[in-house]
Amino acid sequence: MISIVIPVYNEEQNIRALSSRLFPVMDSLHRPYEVIFVNDGSKDSSLALLLNEYKARPEVVRVIDFNANFGQHTAIMAGFRASRGESVITLDADLQNPPEEIPRVAAELDAGHDAVGTIRKNRRDTFFRRTASRIVNKLMNRLTGFSLKDYGCMLRGYSRAIVDIINEAGEASTFLPALAQKFAGSPIEIEVAHSKREKGASKYNMFYLLRLYFDLMTAFTNIPLQLITMSGGVIFGLGVIMLRLDCVLSGFTVFCVGLVGEYVGRIYQEVRKRPRYVIRKIYEGRNIVNA
Ligand code: UDP
Ligand code: MG
Repeated sequence: MISIVIPVYNEEQNIRALSSRLFPVMDSLHRPYEVIFVNDGSKDSSLALLLNEYKARPEVVRVIDFNANFGQHTAIMAGFRASRGESVITLDADLQNPPEEIPRVAAELDAGHDAVGTIRKNRRDTFFRRTASRIVNKLMNRLTGFSLKDYGCMLRGYSRAIVDIINEAGEASTFLPALAQKFAGSPIEIEVAHSKREKGASKYNMFYLLRLYFDLMTAFTNIPLQLITMSGGVIFGLGVIMLRLDCVLSGFTVFCVGLVGEYVGRIYQEVRKRPRYVIRKIYEGRNIVNA
């Protein structure tokens, strides 16, 4: 069985078009599947539209409804927990990842790859987003020792084993592609088509994106912290010799405190063991009750 997991945040303009392309693709595979939509606290009519899909296909569609917005990766994590398939494939709801590419990802999982990453061919995003990704992809590979070409494309495949490990790890902040890469025994990356977002707007503004990148970096390596500590020592030495580095030093100090705080904050989150998301309701099975 294949589980498709789709995070949804204010995608009312895309859900119908997505479904009209997704289900034919899934039916054409002639094998059992389920589609898990995670409604990540949408404020538009996304939930109602998702429930229409559920009512039309209660044997294959499940809808997890969060009570607030917890973020794309958290939504996927909830979908992972609910998933039952031997293969789990994630997909954006805005049709930037063509559903028609799913069979190719599924084939790589069938061939024994436990983490299937994808590289967006002719990526259709803004220059700003492409540049930011280029820098982050390079930096992450340097810092983690992985060699992924595209961390950001969220059309990805995961084997049951990897999904179970991720579920068990239960990390408070998680960038899923990197987490899967860490646990995978036989990862692969394939090229897939990419479309521009036709309807609605990207949810990642500059702030949201920076938060994601920070998450990614601090969750996977302590190297930034170590570099900072070392260069702190060097700058201290220079300061002693030259006697005029007050501006540089104060700026640097603030940055260091912020970075250290980031790790400390992370530990604090882990220690609190606060749930990462709250599910209002799960719609599943044939007995549709007050849906
Ligand atoms: N998404 C979500 N929660 C969020 C932000 C985004 O579930 O807080 C979903 C969104 O509905 C879409 C996917 O994650 O299905 C990717 O979001 P988006 O298209 O805004 O990101 P971009 O393509 O700009 O990276
Ligand atoms: Mg998008």
